[in-house]
Amino acid sequence: MNILVINCGSSSLKFQLIDSETEKCIAKGICERIGIEGSQITYTPAGGEKEQTVTPMPDHTEAIRLVLEALTNEKTGVVKSLDEIGAVGHRIVHGGEKFAASTIITDEVMKAIEECNDLAPLHNPANLIGINACKKLMPATPMVAVFDTAFHQTMPEEAYMYGLPYEYYEKYKIRRYGFHGTSHSYVSRKAAEVLDKKYEDLKIIVCHLGNGASVSAVKNGKCVDTSMGLTPLEGLIMGTRSGDIDPAIMEFIAHKEGKDIDEIMTVLNKKSGVYGLSNNLSSDFRDLEDGYNRGDEHCIRTMNTYCYRVAKYIGSYVAAMNGVDVICFTAGIGENAPLVRSLVCEHLGFLGVSIDEDANHKRGEEIAISTPDSKTTVMVIPTNEELAIARETVSLVK
Ligand code: ADP
Repeated sequence: MNILVINCGSSSLKFQLIDSETEKCIAKGICERIGIEGSQITYTPAGGEKEQTVTPMPDHTEAIRLVLEALTNEKTGVVKSLDEIGAVGHRIVHGGEKFAASTIITDEVMKAIEECNDLAPLHNPANLIGINACKKLMPATPMVAVFDTAFHQTMPEEAYMYGLPYEYYEKYKIRRYGFHGTSHSYVSRKAAEVLDKKYEDLKIIVCHLGNGASVSAVKNGKCVDTSMGLTPLEGLIMGTRSGDIDPAIMEFIAHKEGKDIDEIMTVLNKKSGVYGLSNNLSSDFRDLEDGYNRGDEHCIRTMNTYCYRVAKYIGSYVAAMNGVDVICFTAGIGENAPLVRSLVCEHLGFLGVSIDEDANHKRGEEIAISTPDSKTTVMVIPTNEELAIARETVSLVK
C-alpha cells in the first residue's frame, strides 16, 4: 500500500509517498511560502530529477492539490491515480494527555486535536489545516494522526511534573510532554534490532540532535523521561532555542532591555541557542565545526557548551534508569557531526565509553561507534520519521 505522509506547518508542507511493502520512499517534496507571495513546490520522484515550480498557493488545499497533481502527473508522477494512495499519515505535534498512540482520524479526533491547540498554538492549527485540505481532496481515503508527544506519555508522574502550583496542572495541564517522539521510538527500537537484543531488556538513551534537539530515556521499551517540556523550548541548547535557563533571566532581560513577554519569547526561540551563543555566527553545525577547527573562540565556546549540556542530560538519564546499555545519536547533527559525538563522549568516561574514531567518521549507516570493549554501546542510528509515520498508518488502516 502507498502511504502519503504529510507534515504540515503554518506556511510549509512536507510530503513523502512511501510504499509500505518495500518501505521505500517513492517521491517526496515540500511546498513553501503557502499563503505568501513567491510560493513554490519542490518535488523529487525517487531516482528522478528534483523539480522546483514557483506557483501561487493561496492556501493549504491548493498546496495539497499541487502535491497530488505532481504525484499523478503523466510525465513525472509515480502513481496513475489517487486510488493508488491507500492512506494518509499526518504528523501532529501535540496530542496532550489525550493521545498515547496514533489513531485513525475521525471528527472526534479532530476535535480532540483542536482542544490541544493551546499547548501548541503554532503547530496544531496548521496540522489541522493539513488534515482538512486532504479530506477535501481525498474524502474516501483513511487518515491517521501520529503524534510527536505520544511516545512520551509513558513517563511517570515524577518525570513529567514541574515544581509549580498543582492547580496549573489541574487547570491547564501544564506538565512535561516531550516531542520528537516518533524519532525517539524509531531510533531506540532500531538500535535494539541492530544489536539483535530484545527491546524490552534494554536501557537506551536517544540524543535526537537536529535544529530542534531532545534527549530521551527509554527503559524496557518505554519512555521514562525526555528533555523537551510543555513546549519544545526546554532542555538542550538548540539551533536558535535556548533550552534550559534560569526562568528569572526573563524578568532580568525584560527590565534591562525594556522587552515585553512576546519579545523575550522571540529571543529565547529564535535568537538564542548555538546561534546566539556563537555571537550570531550561525545555527548550522557545519559552520560551527569549521570555526572550531580554525580555532575561532566563539565556535569553541559554543561547541563545548552544547556538548556539555548533551552529556549532562545523558548523565541525568543514567540516574533516571539506574544505568544505560546503549546511547544513540540521530538527526542532522547526531548523524553528521563526528566532532559533536566525540566531544559529548569525552564526558562519559564514568560509563566506560570508548569511541572508535574510524567508525565515528562513517556516514549514513546504522553503526556502533564504540569499541568492542566499551562498557556502554554508543551508536549512530539515522532517524526516519516519515517511515515511522507510514508504518503506524499502515498498522491502523489494515
Ligand atoms: P530539523 O529536522 O530539526 O530541522 P535536522 O535534523 O535536519 O533538523 O538537522 C539540521 C541540522 O543538522 C543543521 O542545522 C546542521 O546544523 C546539522 N547538519 C546537517 N548536515 C551536517 C553536516 N554534514 N555536518 C554537521 N552538521 C550537519
